[in-house]
Amino acid sequence: MTQIAFIGLGNMGGPMAANLVKAGHSVTGFDLVPAVLEDAKAAGVAIAATPGDAVGGADIVITMLPSGKHVLSVYEAILPAVVPGTLLIDSSTIDVDSARKAHALAADKGAVALDAPVSGGVGGAAAGTLTFMVGGSAAAFARAEPILAAMGKKIVHCGDAGAGQAAKICNNMILGISMIAVSEAFVLAEKLGLSHQALFDVASTSSGQCWSLTTYCPVPGPVPTSPANRDYQPGFAAALMLKDLALSQDAAASAGAATPLGAAATKLYEAMVAAEQGGVDFSGIINRLRAGATA
Ligand code: NAD
Repeated sequence: MTQIAFIGLGNMGGPMAANLVKAGHSVTGFDLVPAVLEDAKAAGVAIAATPGDAVGGADIVITMLPSGKHVLSVYEAILPAVVPGTLLIDSSTIDVDSARKAHALAADKGAVALDAPVSGGVGGAAAGTLTFMVGGSAAAFARAEPILAAMGKKIVHCGDAGAGQAAKICNNMILGISMIAVSEAFVLAEKLGLSHQALFDVASTSSGQCWSLTTYCPVPGPVPTSPANRDYQPGFAAALMLKDLALSQDAAASAGAATPLGAAATKLYEAMVAAEQGGVDFSGIINRLRAGATA
C-alpha cells in the first residue's frame, strides 16, 4: 500500500483516485469544488482541508488539473509541505514549458517529478484503461509504473522532462487534423452521391484508414458506438480538442516547427467553440463543414 495525495478530483481525477483506492492504496484528496469532494469521499478517498494537508506523509502526489498555471500554483502551494524524495506525478494536459518548470520546482525541493498526461477520456479513467505518456527519469518512471498501472493499461516512457506532454499534444494534433480530414471526405461523398456506408467500407480497409474513421466515425451508422449516433454528445468535447490544438500551436511556435494543418484545425475548432458548440463532441465538426466552414 502506498500513501498517495491526489489533487484535482474532477471528471478525470475523481475516477482515477477511486481506482487507486480500489487497488488498495491509501489516498488523500483535495479539490476546490465541494461536490467533487463528496463523490471522492464516497469512493473511499480521505479528504484534506488544504493542499498542504493532502501531501503531508504522502510518498506520491498526483495532480489532475485544468492547465499549466493551475499546476504551477498547486506546486508552489504544496512544495513547502513535501519531503525530499517524494514523487510528484502531474497527469494534467499542460504546455511543455510549464511541465518543465514543474520538474524544476520539484527538483529545487529534492522531490522527483514526472509529467504523465493521459489519453482515454472519462470512460478510460473510470475503467482504469488510460494510456499514460510519461516524461522524466528512468528511475522515477520505474517507481511510478505500478501506481499508474492501477489507473491505466498502457504506460509509455517517452523521454526526459516534458516528453510526456510533447507526446500528448503531438498525438492530439494528429487526432484533430484526422477528424477534419475524415469529415471532409464524408461531406464530399454526400455531394457526390456516395453513401456513408460505401465510403466507410472502402476507406476503413484502404489507405484512408485511421482511428477517426474506424473508432470515432463522424457520421451515424457505420460505427454504432461513435458519438455521431447520439447526436454528438461527448465523448471528447470540442473545447478540450481546442485546448490541446492550442497547446500544439504554442509548442510549434516556440520550437519553430511548421504545422500548417495543425493551424487550420485549430482555427476550425476555435470557430466551433466561438459558436457555443464547445460542449459538443469534436466529431461534430462535420456539421460545420457541411454548413460550409473554412479555416
Ligand atoms: P475538470 O475540470 O473536471 O477537473 C479539474 C479539477 O481541478 C476540478 O475539479 C477543479 O475544481 C480542480 N482544481 C482547479 N484548480 C485547483 C486547485 N488550485 N486546487 C485543487 N483543485 C483544483 O477537468 P478534467 O476533465 O478532469 O481534466 C483534467 C485534466 O485532464 C485537464 O488537463 C484535461 O485537459 C486533461 N484530460 C481530460 C480528458 C477528458 O476527456 N476530460 C481527457 C484527457 C486529458
